[in-house]
Amino acid sequence: MKKVYIEPGCITCGACEFVAPEVFQVTDVSHVNPQAELKKNEEVIKEAARMCPVNVIKYEE
Ligand code: SF4
Repeated sequence: MKKVYIEPGCITCGACEFVAPEVFQVTDVSHVNPQAELKKNEEVIKEAARMCPVNVIKYEE
């Protein structure tokens, strides 16, 4: 996985941080931790993207 980002529209539900706490931190909106190991967290990132109720978690493989 090369890149993870959040498009505008996050409703701060917290699901992504719950599923992948090393990658997502939800404050005012969800943020991707720039230090996160994307390869190691690939499965949970995909899971978070599937779970996001507004589909704003995007990734490039
Ligand atoms: S799962 Fe989606 S809506 Fe919920 S906090 Fe994460 S990015 Fe925002």
